[in-house]
Amino acid sequence: MAIRKIATIGHPVLRQVARPVGREELATAEMQTLIDDLVETMRDADGAGLAAIQIYQPLRIVAVEVRDNPRYPYKPKIPLTILVNPELTVVGEETFDNNEGCLSVPNLRGVVRRHTSLSVRAWDRHGALVETQVFGLKAATYQHEVDHLDGKLFVDRVTDPTTFASWTEFERHHKAAFVQRVAALVARLGE
Ligand code: ZN
Repeated sequence: MAIRKIATIGHPVLRQVARPVGREELATAEMQTLIDDLVETMRDADGAGLAAIQIYQPLRIVAVEVRDNPRYPYKPKIPLTILVNPELTVVGEETFDNNEGCLSVPNLRGVVRRHTSLSVRAWDRHGALVETQVFGLKAATYQHEVDHLDGKLFVDRVTDPTTFASWTEFERHHKAAFVQRVAALVARLGE
């Protein structure tokens, strides 16, 4: 396993559309090592998620995990989840304003409107079909990661540029109100 370099905004790889992975290819040692490295790199950088495209591999693979995360202390825990070729379907009309950051966009946060409820179809790292529903902040994390697979970054979805903030200024001026707002969401949806 190895910690890999994370591409940052401006690198063309982040604007590629990642390609699907076949089951046989997924089973190869090379691909399994890539997934191990994706997880290790995400944990090392305190990410809540990381897409393979962010480590210069334009494949439709993402890792999501929230433990005790110093970058996102308000996020409910998510066990380590690998999604291969994920497909998200929006459930219902409800959206919420999420304050997001990204390992590929250093020291910037901004407000992005996300769907509150999704159904998810994907494979796990062994190619087994996973079908589930996700809600709230977890749904926002899934949308953020799947955006990466389509060459999109959260900054593309920020509709009010006055919400951009460095991490320090987010902590100083915006975090308390945001945490209070999402706490109500988490209380209602459980994640
Ligand atoms: Zn990101």
